Amino acid sequence: MSDYLSDAVLLYLQELIDWESYFNWRKGEESDVEIERAALREVLETAAQICEEMEPELRAGWDQAARLVDGEVVYPPHIQTALDKMREAGLVSFGVEEEYGGFGLPSFVANVLLQMVSRADAGLMTILGLQAGVAEDIQQYASEELKRTYLPRFASGEVMGAMDLTEPQAGSDLGAILTRATEKDGRTFIDGDKIFITNGGCEIHLVLARDDDTFEQSKGTTKGLSLYLVPRTLPSGEKNGVTVTRLEEKLGIHGSPTAAIHFEQAEGFLVGTKGEGFKAMLSLMNNARLGVAAQGIGIAEAALKVAVSYAQQRVQFGQPIAEQPLMKDRLARMTLELEGSRALLYRACSLVDQNRAIEKALARANEGSGELSAAERVELEALHERNDTRVRLLTPLAKYMGTEAADSISRDSIQVHGGLGFMAESEPGKLHSDAIITTIYEGTSEIQVSFALKEIGKGALTIVFEALEKELKTFEEPRLREQAEKVLDGMNQILGAAGALLADFSYALMSAQSLAEVVASVIAGAELLKQAKADPRRFDLAASWINRRMNDLESRCKRIKEGSAERLDRCANIIALSGG
Ligand SMILES: Cc1cc2nc3c(=O)[nH]c(=O)nc-3n(C[C@H](O)[C@H](O)[C@H](O)COP(=O)(O)OP(=O)(O)OC[C@H]3O[C@@H](n4cnc5c(N)ncnc54)[C@H](O)[C@@H]3O)c2cc1C
Repeated sequence: MSDYLSDAVLLYLQELIDWESYFNWRKGEESDVEIERAALREVLETAAQICEEMEPELRAGWDQAARLVDGEVVYPPHIQTALDKMREAGLVSFGVEEEYGGFGLPSFVANVLLQMVSRADAGLMTILGLQAGVAEDIQQYASEELKRTYLPRFASGEVMGAMDLTEPQAGSDLGAILTRATEKDGRTFIDGDKIFITNGGCEIHLVLARDDDTFEQSKGTTKGLSLYLVPRTLPSGEKNGVTVTRLEEKLGIHGSPTAAIHFEQAEGFLVGTKGEGFKAMLSLMNNARLGVAAQGIGIAEAALKVAVSYAQQRVQFGQPIAEQPLMKDRLARMTLELEGSRALLYRACSLVDQNRAIEKALARANEGSGELSAAERVELEALHERNDTRVRLLTPLAKYMGTEAADSISRDSIQVHGGLGFMAESEPGKLHSDAIITTIYEGTSEIQVSFALKEIGKGALTIVFEALEKELKTFEEPRLREQAEKVLDGMNQILGAAGALLADFSYALMSAQSLAEVVASVIAGAELLKQAKADPRRFDLAASWINRRMNDLESRCKRIKEGSAERLDRCANIIALSGG
């Protein structure tokens, strides 16, 4: 079996996700969980094999970029071949429901697929990630007519999708969007310019635009924005007003076309409610954030694998460098970063899945065809609400941790390769060049930790820590219990420090990254302990994560507690020394 399908993935497939409840809620009947799980495993095994087979060609073609030819975006050959293979295998749009021609795969499986694709080529992953994300947004928010028209074509890969938010003046701040949507005779037309659009040459664009009738009063805010499906070819067969004006040259993910798009009187079809486009787009972005976290994990896996393999064969001072204590520590640290981030991602995905399944069960109950008693319904609604809070915190944390891990692990992988790592054709060099962007798009790391802070400000820690505490108190085996106690102590320290942030919003923002780190440390710590319980070979991994991270947590919490917004003045004084 391909090592693209890692032990950790199999643990979640076999033991660490409650698939029985998932399938029962989703399908409304007692499911044979073994059969369902075997089907998911088959999809993952197929994808693992395809990705592993594609890897050499994709890595060899890494520096070949897409080209703009007569206004059409042409993928480089290695990407086109890979897309064709994925399409043939039916693996281009993972979450589209069966009724629209897809597999309706759970978020966990869909994101593991993206992770595998990313391990083979992070550029290819962006194309497939957006394909999945755009289709899911259409599925969640569009009219039945749009769904029936486009989703089967997404599922088969006949059409591809892009998400068009960014404008020159509107990057992290989407309230600055100026692309305009104007209604005329019951139709809507889009005018404006978008930049940095991944796979911008594709057929279907989901565009966030400001509505003309509230343009002036909503300017500078995320109100008054609506989401439109803008096809390059109209249902009449006419060409729509969508033009790719430029393709960017980049530091990495060369196979992924990054386009500037000009919209001129382009007809758009409303997705969701008018004026609430930001909300609909947030849902796409949250899914996409998990996707980019998976992209990071895929790159990190690839970088770690080449690092370990190189360190085992490179001999210096009469022994493989992997035997040098410093190198052992570095390789172990890289593994810890990868596995901690992965644990956060998989738990976030499992909560998303649980909630989607609960929504189906509740919808059936509302239609009167369900099997829920009134008490069960209330209980499920409460679970849904708690999960929602957990997902809102875990999503930015998973994106932040997974992508920063990709960045640092791929950089470490270069270091492990010594001078060879710095050569133009070096594998870790390519992986590092690809990793950088993951910390920038779908919301930069700074935006992710600010989102996490916002959720904490709304009280998310109470719900998240309640769930953690319950889990941590179930460990009975002494070795596991001892580690669990350390995590529980870490949680208390975080609660003490978080209180110090309530007084001053600027100071809280300044400390957002530290807070995100410590919260991620305890969540991943608990998760790694669950892994160790299921597979004792993972005990040292969990214990080492907890020991290293809890030491770091202690000093971060102390620093947060002792500081105040005055530190911002000190920052300004320090920056002034560099001429700022
Ligand atoms: C290869 C690539 C592909 C992309 N694909 C897409 C796509 O498909 N669709 C799309 O719509 N967009 C896409 N983007 C755009 C991407 O999402 C933005 O580049 C990103 O959101 C950051 O915006 P910006 O570049 O304007 O940076 P800015 O927003 O100007 O940020 C610059 C720096 O300031 C920091 N910063 C900004 N605000 C704050 C704050 N409040 N607090 C602390 N720090 C802050 C940021 O973290 C960053 O470090 C892509 C970009 C690239 C490079």
